[in-house]
Amino acid sequence: MIAIVGAGISGLSIAWHLHQKNIPYQIFESSDEVGGYLKTLQMGKNKAYLFEKGANSLLMDDEILDFIKQTNFEDELIYANKISNSRFIVRDGKPKKLPTSPQALLFGSFFSTQTKTKIFRELYYKKEELAPTTTIGDFLENRFGKEVVDYAVSPFVTGVYAADAYQLLLKYTFPKLTEYAQNYGSVLKGFIKNKSGSRKKSVSFRRGMQSFAKHIAKNLNVQLNHTVISIKNSDFIERKSRRWKLEIESEKQGKKQIEILEFDKVFLTTPPSVSADFLEPHFEKLALTIKKIHYPTMCLIHSVFKKEDIDFDLNGFGALHPKVENLFSAGTIWSSSVFEGRSPKDEVLFTGFVGGRQWQKNTELPKEEILKRHTEELKQIYGIKNAPIIQQFTKWDKSVPQYDEQLLKVEKQLKRLKKSDIYICANWFGGVSVADCIKKGRNLALQFIADSNL
Ligand SMILES: Cc1cc2nc3c(=O)[nH]c(=O)nc-3n(C[C@H](O)[C@H](O)[C@H](O)COP(=O)(O)OP(=O)(O)OC[C@H]3O[C@@H](n4cnc5c(N)ncnc54)[C@H](O)[C@@H]3O)c2cc1C
Repeated sequence: MIAIVGAGISGLSIAWHLHQKNIPYQIFESSDEVGGYLKTLQMGKNKAYLFEKGANSLLMDDEILDFIKQTNFEDELIYANKISNSRFIVRDGKPKKLPTSPQALLFGSFFSTQTKTKIFRELYYKKEELAPTTTIGDFLENRFGKEVVDYAVSPFVTGVYAADAYQLLLKYTFPKLTEYAQNYGSVLKGFIKNKSGSRKKSVSFRRGMQSFAKHIAKNLNVQLNHTVISIKNSDFIERKSRRWKLEIESEKQGKKQIEILEFDKVFLTTPPSVSADFLEPHFEKLALTIKKIHYPTMCLIHSVFKKEDIDFDLNGFGALHPKVENLFSAGTIWSSSVFEGRSPKDEVLFTGFVGGRQWQKNTELPKEEILKRHTEELKQIYGIKNAPIIQQFTKWDKSVPQYDEQLLKVEKQLKRLKKSDIYICANWFGGVSVADCIKKGRNLALQFIADSNL
C-alpha cells in the first residue's frame, strides 16, 4: 500500500494516475479541503466575485490539456482573454507596456538606445559553459545589461518565483537558456532557431483553480483532517523491513485520535519544513539541508473598484513593479481583465502582491498598514478616485520555495533517499508551477507503475 502525504495538486496528480491503474493508495491531508495552494474564494450575490487566494492560472501545453481532458474537466476550462497578452511594468510611477515583438523591443522606446544596442550585440555571443551557480540576474545582465534585468527580468521572476533574480539559479528555472548558451552562444539565436518565443496560454477554470483540485479528488481515496505527524521505521538501519509507520492525527466526534498505519511506499508532497521533520530520524543531513530552503512570505490583496472610478484602461495581464522603482507592492494582476467572471462587468478586480524575497520587510507590518499602503499605491498609479468596494487579505507565511544555491545542496542530498521507498514530489524541487507539479506527479506515478511491473 502507498501513502501520499498532502492533497495539493502534486499529491492529487500522483493519486489520480495510480487510481487509473487500480493501485491501492491513501492520501492524508491535514486541512479540511483539497488543493493546497490552489485556493479559491467565491463570494457576493450569485457568487459574483471570484478571488484566487493562491495560484491564479496554469500554463497550458499538450500534456496539461491531455490531463484536463482525461479528468473530464474540459468543459470548465477558460482561456485568458487575448488582451492579457500585453504585460505592463510600472516605470516612473505609471504602467508602461512591455515590448512583446523583436521589432517593438528594438525600435520602441521602452529601453534606452544603449540597452537596445547591447541586445542586438548578444546575437554574436560565443558558446559558453555555465557554472551551476549562475543566476538568471548575472547571466542576463552580462548579455543584455542592467536595464533589462531591472525592468523586465527582475519583475518577471518576482511575478513567477517571488524571487530575487540575482539569487535564482538559471539551471533550475530557465534550463533552456543554459542550453542555448552552450549550443548557440546567443540565447536570442536559440529562441529564433527553436521558435520557442511563442507564449504558452494561461488558463483557469470557470469556478477557479481549486475547483479543478476538488474535481480530481472526487473519486480518490483522500482522508481530510488527517495530519501525518511522523514517519518511522525502526528496522530501517538494518534494512530488515521496508515498511514505514505513519503516525497520523485525526479527529473523531470532537476527540483527537492518533493511529499508526504501515505502508510499503511513501510519497511526500509536503512543504520543506514538514518534509524535513519526517525525514530527520533516518536522514538527518538531508533533513537539515531541506529545512534551509528559503520560503518568503507573500500577502495577496484582492481589491474591487467601480470601473468608472479608474482613470486607466486595464488592457493587459497586469503590471509588475521593478524593485528600483521603490514601490510598496511587488505588482498586480488585473484579474477581471484576464479571465471572465471574476467580478461584475462594471467593476474591476486587482490581485495585488506584497512580499516575496525582495519585499519581505513589508509583510512584517500590521495587516491594516499593508492594506492602507497598498491601496494608496493603487490609487496613485491608476488614478483611482474612490475607496475599494471590497477588499480581501490573504497571507502565506511560506509562499514560493526559492530555487537558489541551497537547492544545489538539496539535489546532492536527495540521493540518500534512493532505495528507501520514500519519494519526494513537491514544489520545492523540480519545478514550482502548477503545471510542473501535475507533470511531476504523473511521471512519478508512471515510473512507479513501470518499475513495479504492474
Ligand atoms: C501566492 C501564490 C501564487 C501562485 N501563483 C501561481 C500561478 O498563478 N500559477 C502557477 O503555476 N503556480 C503558482 N503558484 C505555485 C503553485 O501554486 C504551487 O507551487 C503548487 O500549487 C504546489 O502544489 P503542491 O501540491 O506541490 O503543494 P501544496 O499545495 O503545498 O500541497 C501540499 C499539501 O500538503 C498538506 N500538508 C502539509 N503538511 C501536512 C501533514 N503533516 N500531513 C498531511 N498533509 C499535510 C497541505 O495542507 C497541502 O494541502 C503560486 C504559489 C503561491 C504561494
